[in-house]
Order: sequence, then C-alpha cells, then structure tokens
Amino acid sequence: MKEGEFPVPARRFSGVGFSEIVKVRNRVLDLLAAGQKVWRFEGGEPYMPTPQPIKDAMTAALARNETRYAPSSGVPELRRAILEKVRGKNAIPADDESPIVVNGGMHGLFAAFATLLDREDEVLMFSPYWTPIVDVIRYHGASPVLVPAERARREGLTAALAARVTPRTKLLYWNSPVNPTGEVFSRAEVEEVCAFVRDNGLALISDEAYEDLIYEGEGHVSPASFPGMAERTLSVFTLSKTYSMTGWRAGYVIVPKRWRTAMQTIVLYSINGVSTPTQWAAREALRLPDTFLQEAKEGYRRRRDALVRGLKAAGFALEAPRAALYLFPKAPPGLGSDSVAAARTLLDSVRVATVPGLVFGPEGEGHVRFSFSVSEGTITGGTEALKSLAAAPASR
Ligand code: PMP
Repeated sequence: MKEGEFPVPARRFSGVGFSEIVKVRNRVLDLLAAGQKVWRFEGGEPYMPTPQPIKDAMTAALARNETRYAPSSGVPELRRAILEKVRGKNAIPADDESPIVVNGGMHGLFAAFATLLDREDEVLMFSPYWTPIVDVIRYHGASPVLVPAERARREGLTAALAARVTPRTKLLYWNSPVNPTGEVFSRAEVEEVCAFVRDNGLALISDEAYEDLIYEGEGHVSPASFPGMAERTLSVFTLSKTYSMTGWRAGYVIVPKRWRTAMQTIVLYSINGVSTPTQWAAREALRLPDTFLQEAKEGYRRRRDALVRGLKAAGFALEAPRAALYLFPKAPPGLGSDSVAAARTLLDSVRVATVPGLVFGPEGEGHVRFSFSVSEGTITGGTEALKSLAAAPASR
C-alpha cells in the first residue's frame, strides 16, 4: 500500500448483502423524522414489554455483583435450566455439556455456520427464508442452494432435496415455524427431512426462533428429537420472541459433541460469553410459568385475526398462517408483481410500511410481509389507509 491509500474490506464480504430490511427501516425513520405518520408493519418484535420477573432477575444479579466474566459457554445455572427445557419440551436427548449460551439467535446461527462451513460448501435451504441466512452462508465462501418450499411440499420434499444435493452439500438449514410465511412444517415433513439429512450424511442447523409462537394445530417439533439426529443437529434457540427479549440478546445452541470445541472456540473469540447479568435474566425467563406465554399468544392470535380481516377488506387475498408474527400475502393486483415497487407504493402513497417479499428469496417475489405484532391502533389505522388505496383507482 502507498501513502494516501486505504485497504479495502476483506474479500469475503464480496457478494454479502447488508439487510434489505434495514433499508426499509431507514426510509421509515426518514419519514418519521419529517413529521409524517407511518403505519409500521415492517418490524418483527413482540408487541409487549419484557415480563417484570425477568427484569427483576437482572436487577437482583447486579445487586449480587454478578458482573464478572462467566464461563464463555454460559453460567452453569442457566445451562442447567436450558438442559431441563430442551430435554422436556423439545424432547432432545441433549447431553450435559451440549448447551452453549449465545448472544441471541443471529449470533447462534452465525456461530453454527462458522463451525461447519468451508469455502465452496453448499447449504440446502427452503425458500422463502429469513433474509440474513444467505448472506451468512456467502460470508463463509459457501453457497445457498434454494429449494422452493411450496412446490417441494406439494410434490415431495425428498425428491426436491435429492434433485439439489451434490458432493459439496454439507448441511441443511431448517427453519420452522417459518419467517416470513408463518407456516409450520408437519411432524411427518420434519421426519422426512431428517431422514434425508441422515441418509446423505449431512449436518442440520435448525433455527427454532418461533417454536413457542404456534397458535393452533400441531405443536412444534424439534428435528433433534428424532432418532440419530441429536448427533448431527445444531439446534438454535433464542429468547427474543418467546419472552419479548429482542434487545437483551440472549439465546442458546444445543451442540453435538463432535462440533462442540469448534463452536466454543467461535463463541470465545467472538463474544467471550454473553453479559453475565443477562444470563441470570435468561434463567428467570426459562422458569416463567406457562401462563405468560398463553396470554401473549392470545394477544398475537387476536392481532393476527384482526389484520387478516383488515387486509381482506382492503383487497388482499390471504389465509391466516398458523404461527410466528407475520402475514405474507401477494400484493394486490393493482400494485403489480414487483414487490420492491409495491412496498414503496404502500409506503409513499398511504404510509404503510411493509417488507418487500423479494428480500426473502425469489419465492417471495410478488408478496409483501406485514408483522401483526403491532398495536391494535396500527392494525385499524393501517388497514383503513390501505382501503383508501384500494378505492383510489375507482374514484379517479
Ligand atoms: N431466526 C429467525 C427465523 C428470525 O426471524 C430471527 C429474528 N427475526 C432470528 C432467528 C434471530 O433473532 P434474535 O437474533 O433476535 O435472537
């Protein structure tokens, strides 16, 4: 390098996008700063604050001076609470040393991919998918191989996966309940995908961020609960959605023995453990009675149904999904099939903020994502604004 020159960022960033969702959020913030009213459906956070006992547990931890380095894989009391939870609720035969505490689901996923991926590896994943995953895979020099979910579910999961597996395939990324569609794969489907993973000697990274937000029908199924799967699955969990703890940055990964040292190394050299008081709060979260979640789910269900009704009245065609926080309808015909343009029109003309479906993969094109985890006032106001858009062409 010569004087006056600057090094460029590392080459591994080429081809890695910076969240498109953040771009939408920035545009919304600009409008808000200009004094505009915006009906915000673009987020993905629980609508209620963190429960008080969780906050109290952090305060108590501070009062006890739990403010020093903890073991980098997590404080033993929290790891024990995690074990009890995953062995019971998730039916995962986790061994005593398997839980590693991480800085939220995103960090858990990053660390899981970093544990397994080499350059040139391929990762099978269903599409549409949660946006950051393809970028994390590309950051490691590996390639996402997309499996269109709707078609695969109609025509057979095994055949769809078999058509795309190659000698370079290292793992399958799995997410159910699904962000952005709110769909849940059935137990039979999970079993079929697990059999494929086993038969092909692959690893599974299972993103279970929405495990607790299923509103009706069959409950959550953890892939690592199936025979022979615990030893080849990194099960990634977060406290963000279940306990309204998005800003605390707390999660955990259940890591099979053969990959544990690698994963512990990544966690050590990236964060050297999650903030100690946060871990005590996380332990309290795992001990909360089920009534908290039942009430939260009642609130989500009510919001989901109100938004579905409102969107239908405004000309959207959709069914209520069974889980997660999102509706993912096709943009109404008047808005065209370019989802980026459709989302921009919604924001510019009626101040309704959504996320364009294209950012969730080619299978999301033509759709827009609404979060129903918003205030009831936003649901009423936003859907009224959308109705005015639907009415506009006729009145012109
Ligand atoms: N997985 C999925 C599918 C998600 O939607 C999210 C958050 N939107 C996460 C993981 C990570 O959440 P966090 O980092 O807040 O724990």
